[in-house]
Amino acid sequence: MEGAGIQTPGATAARYSYLFPIGYSNSSECGYCRQTRSGYSYYAIATSLTPAFYQKLVDRCWRRSGSLLYRPNQKHSCCPHYTLRLDSTQFKPTKDQRQAVNRFNRHIVGETYVRDAARLHPRSRAEVRRRHNVFDLVERIHEPEAELLKSPPSPDHVFTVTLEPDTFTEEKYQVFENYQRIVHREPPDRISRQGFKRFLCGSPLTRETMTGPDGTERQLGSFHQCYRIDGKLVAVGVLDLLPDCVSAVYFLYHESIHWLNPGKLGALREIALAREAGYRWWYPGYYVHNCAKMRYKIEYKPQYVLDPEDLRWYLLDKEALALFDTGHYVCFSGRTGDQREETGAPAVMNSIDTESSPKPAPPPLPAAAQTAAPDPIKARETDQESGGASPAEEDQEEDEDDFEDDFEDEDDAFLLASNMPGIPSLEEMRQVDMDGLVLRSDFSNNLIVASHLVIWDTEDIAQFGTLKSRIAELVAAVGPDLIGELCIDFRKRSS
Ligand SMILES: [Zn+2]
Repeated sequence: MEGAGIQTPGATAARYSYLFPIGYSNSSECGYCRQTRSGYSYYAIATSLTPAFYQKLVDRCWRRSGSLLYRPNQKHSCCPHYTLRLDSTQFKPTKDQRQAVNRFNRHIVGETYVRDAARLHPRSRAEVRRRHNVFDLVERIHEPEAELLKSPPSPDHVFTVTLEPDTFTEEKYQVFENYQRIVHREPPDRISRQGFKRFLCGSPLTRETMTGPDGTERQLGSFHQCYRIDGKLVAVGVLDLLPDCVSAVYFLYHESIHWLNPGKLGALREIALAREAGYRWWYPGYYVHNCAKMRYKIEYKPQYVLDPEDLRWYLLDKEALALFDTGHYVCFSGRTGDQREETGAPAVMNSIDTESSPKPAPPPLPAAAQTAAPDPIKARETDQESGGASPAEEDQEEDEDDFEDDFEDEDDAFLLASNMPGIPSLEEMRQVDMDGLVLRSDFSNNLIVASHLVIWDTEDIAQFGTLKSRIAELVAAVGPDLIGELCIDFRKRSS
């Protein structure tokens, strides 16, 4: 295909997001109920994602785990995954949440500081009254930070929070290792630097700065929000900062601060960030209603749930929660809860989530990709046969032919025949003009226009497994309206 339909990637190349299609596949094991062959998702690997593109994906039920992107089929799952978001400008912390902040702040500054500061820097009567009546989240969250504290007196501890690039450091890994081993009781042989890197460092999101409509500058991309007490790193919030949201990816902390309720503090700080920097929305990750330990997510209100069919947001009020109680698959646009079709899974399940600790759903990994029990840091183990070049394969030899990788696993299915909510049908995809779609391969630095591919006129999107049908599946999964922002990336992921 060299030489055909060349576009030069110049100034325009940066606006594309680069995705490699893996396909629509059954997951090997559910991270919540441990059921095997637990449900279908569509998978892709991102080599580069613009924050604006990924914002659109998360608003269509997608999520990422490292560079693996997936969109679960809520209708065909033991534990349907729903996307939630919270309006930070409307957020009202509960008494419990306010207390967690106050307790932490008092621990940092200490009783002596509180007493002496009241004497040295007395608050006006009006100020005291205001603080009594109003809990200003942004103000309270920043209060214990060393650089904002009035001094003298000296606080008991020096507390700092910095937003850093999501690069690997040994300091971060040590906290991660402790968190996985102690808080999540992960066997030590399953915790590795490699896993930490793959899952939580070096995300495919590009880093940018944007100016919001209100004139405020905000950072976009993946970041580590690093919490240090007396210079020691004690917690890391892994965040995707997108044009309209702070998306929580993971939160890890050292066991020594477990008693301070760090999960709650982390969530509140992220909500405060969404509010003060103008992102507005906070995405706590997927919500699985039949998983009791996920309930902490909906303790932050008001929250909205993304309808899998019309892809609009619905207030997660009592009525909506009642709908979740009655149905397995819930469609809010039609206000219906379907009884589950699958069998076996109990109504309330154990999960590896820890209470009050915002932890993302482990991705429902494709069965073909799986060689061990799934967990968030084992995203896609080596899977030479499934055709998807995964981050795990970086140093390994791969097949020569880019396009001949087919998915022979019995658990792969055809997305366009799946009836998955929110996905165009085969007939609808036939109406989509994909001729101008661009592709990238190893053969050249240039982008190739789909209509110039030799197979373009001979293959049909209905022929499951062909290159053209794989491209059509990816387009359907991201949404045909995003064709102009998408580059199908068939390069070997060796660089
Ligand atoms: Zn499950």
